[in-house]
Amino acid sequence: MFVSVAVPVPQLPLLTYLAADGALPVRGARVLVPLGTRTVTGLVVGEGTVPDDASSVKSILEVLDDEAFLPDAVVDLALWVAEYYVAGPGDALAAAMPPGAWVESLRRFRLTDSGRTALTLPLDPPRRRLLASLEKTPRTLRGIVAAVGESSESLLRALVRDGLVEPVMAVAGRARAFRTEVVASLTAAGAGLAAALEAAADPTLGARQRTALAELAAAGVPMAASALRERGVDPGTLRRLAARGAVHLESRVRERDPFAAGQVPEVGRDDARVLTDEQQAAFEAIRARVDRGEFAAMLVHGVTGSGKTELYLRLARQTIAGSRRVLIMVPEIALTPQVAAQFRAAFGDRVAIQHSGLADGERHDQWHRIRRGDVDLVVGTRSAVFAPIDRLGLIVVDEEHDGSYKQDETPRYSGRDVAVVRARRAGAVVVLGSATPSMETYFNTTSGRYERVVLARRVLDRPLASVRVVDMREEYAASGPDVVLSAALTTAIASRLERGEQSLLLLNRRGFATSVLCRQCGHILECPNCSVTLTVHRRRTGTSRALCHYCNYSVAVPSACVRCAAPYLEQLGFGTDRVQAEVERLFPAIRASRIDRDTVQRRGAMQEILGRFGKGELDLLVGTQMIAKGHDFPRVTLVGVVSADLGLGLADFRAAERTFQLLTQVAGRAGRGEQAGEAIIQTLHPDHYSIKLATRQDYEAFFAEELTYRRAMAYPPVVGLISVVVRGSTYGEALESAADLAARLTRTARGAFALLGPAPAPLAKLRGAYRAQLFLKTRHRDVTRAALREVLGGMPELTRRVTVDVDPQSML
Ligand code: ADP
Ligand code: ZN
Repeated sequence: MFVSVAVPVPQLPLLTYLAADGALPVRGARVLVPLGTRTVTGLVVGEGTVPDDASSVKSILEVLDDEAFLPDAVVDLALWVAEYYVAGPGDALAAAMPPGAWVESLRRFRLTDSGRTALTLPLDPPRRRLLASLEKTPRTLRGIVAAVGESSESLLRALVRDGLVEPVMAVAGRARAFRTEVVASLTAAGAGLAAALEAAADPTLGARQRTALAELAAAGVPMAASALRERGVDPGTLRRLAARGAVHLESRVRERDPFAAGQVPEVGRDDARVLTDEQQAAFEAIRARVDRGEFAAMLVHGVTGSGKTELYLRLARQTIAGSRRVLIMVPEIALTPQVAAQFRAAFGDRVAIQHSGLADGERHDQWHRIRRGDVDLVVGTRSAVFAPIDRLGLIVVDEEHDGSYKQDETPRYSGRDVAVVRARRAGAVVVLGSATPSMETYFNTTSGRYERVVLARRVLDRPLASVRVVDMREEYAASGPDVVLSAALTTAIASRLERGEQSLLLLNRRGFATSVLCRQCGHILECPNCSVTLTVHRRRTGTSRALCHYCNYSVAVPSACVRCAAPYLEQLGFGTDRVQAEVERLFPAIRASRIDRDTVQRRGAMQEILGRFGKGELDLLVGTQMIAKGHDFPRVTLVGVVSADLGLGLADFRAAERTFQLLTQVAGRAGRGEQAGEAIIQTLHPDHYSIKLATRQDYEAFFAEELTYRRAMAYPPVVGLISVVVRGSTYGEALESAADLAARLTRTARGAFALLGPAPAPLAKLRGAYRAQLFLKTRHRDVTRAALREVLGGMPELTRRVTVDVDPQSML
């Protein structure tokens, strides 16, 4: 019997193995298989086809699961991802696995105490041989087979069943597997001792033993050893009491709960809240779909502050009432913990959370809760699209336009698009929510593939923020080129300070200065590994370093030019750190803080800053796009965009769309409470349509204008786009390989796509490798993908140097 197995090795196709005892392991079970000189964990995908050379097929070493580890639907979904995104099936399945699922080294087997005893008794020779082989040291299955012969696997299983031998899990997986803790409870004898103690001290008991008995008696329930230790009872005391028969000790699985760890804030629930007319209409429209129990894709196009989260909550409740389950996807939980918190408040511990910010152990435990069916609702980031939820009735993708739904490593999937596929397969409703829908999603509503539901007004009829544009060309002319904050923005911040209101300042670039220039020879400090300039970052110690944002290379900022040795170095451009410094210079008494990758590296740092801001302990927050996401801070009445132009300079067809989205979203952070809000946008391009239309918050006009351009240039959503980057050790090698690849693709699927390039990639050098890029524009994605697969399949050496990105988010 041949078995088709996916292994987590990049770009490898499905492999065929022989089922050890002839029976096909269940689909979705994990198996240990030999691969070259290694042993790896693989996942059973189904029955394998009979290979040409059946004699070379290797056997599965061990089946790790009797039941499916991954449910069928998730296996199917991952295989679809591999196919669509031109990735290896093992790559895609790995993305669907919880931490600790791939056992990295072999399981070993050791004797139990009964096993040792059995060795002193009469035994049949095979059993004795196998047990004896484990007497001195635990062995892997392979080790046992080597020591006692081929037939030992079934015998071993029998011995495990009889309790004479036990498996010890691989070291690599141990820290991530279930965590256990020791729990102590009083025995009947112990309860008697404790009661007697109240009358008179027992001289046979030490003081700590008496404390332990009293604590356990007072608690009335089993207590964790760690909790007892906090009360001065050490494990030794417990062991002595256990030896005396007064205490029973056992070890229990303890779930690590990210909600308990304070990573998600507590929020109150207001169940009595009445939906607005618009919310109610949207609810009815979507609910009708949910109740029907068929696939439907709906866009909830709701302006910022229109109460989309409340709508999702009601829909989730409706779905769960109909005995189906719910998946809520958000761009980044760490950025918007309120959303997770609201679902937690509404559905209690029937909620699980899945995102990469969790410690592996927490993620592991949450995953297994979902797998066991202990939860009705999962809140998670893009990888949660693979959560093992069954009876799925509703998937919500909040802020569906957000770029972080796209994974920027293999498999390069879009969590949003995979969610739509999953919903279709599960017969579920998928709701895509946004104030600024992606071009793709909105395009799908115009063609009728998705339905559109509109929330045009903010709840309680709060007005949208008024938006003002400041032309920085005038500002530079008046005050010189070093201006960071315009007069208008400075005045606006001052008035917020006076009134005790809060401000947000956005600049989508971290660091202090963006480049170091020699005024004598014009040399600019560049990364030796990447074709980018180095950004200046200040250290807390007061020193500065120049850092590459791509490969993390860094050097101390030199005091003289490294090329001509002149001491006239100038720092140009500015990032968030400089903005904060400027704010603090202008307003010495201000309480300001900053949110960007530099300040939130430490776990929990972001929550801490957002928490202080939420409580009003800060007046102003500077940040990158992290602060533009769905935060709801009612005291913010001013949002300043320090430069709206950063995205516009990029050679990327999405530049205008991204700018429009960012500006609209960040303006949406202002005026969410009682006071009206104001947004001030600084730009050198006040006439650019993305800035003008964001100022008017006119989505439809933007979509129409942008679509005209996408049509004219043949870009998504009008055509499909695939990016192929080829790396080489020189420009020549990269370009040559890319040209070769392009020629083969054209021969294989002539007419299926239009070719752009090959040309040097915009980031022509990255982490030491030279890069050439080609784009395939296509209306026949299937044919084009198949051609890619075929050509790359025949060129394994090249495949290692190629990155394929289907529906790329970034052109770099
Ligand atoms: P969005 O996600 O659309 O930007 P939110 O869901 O954050 O909007 O809602 C904005 C604010 O309005 C939140 O503070 C929310 O609690 C509140 N809200 C939502 N729906 C209602 C309602 N029906 N009545 C009163 N307040 C509401
Ligand atoms: Zn670099």
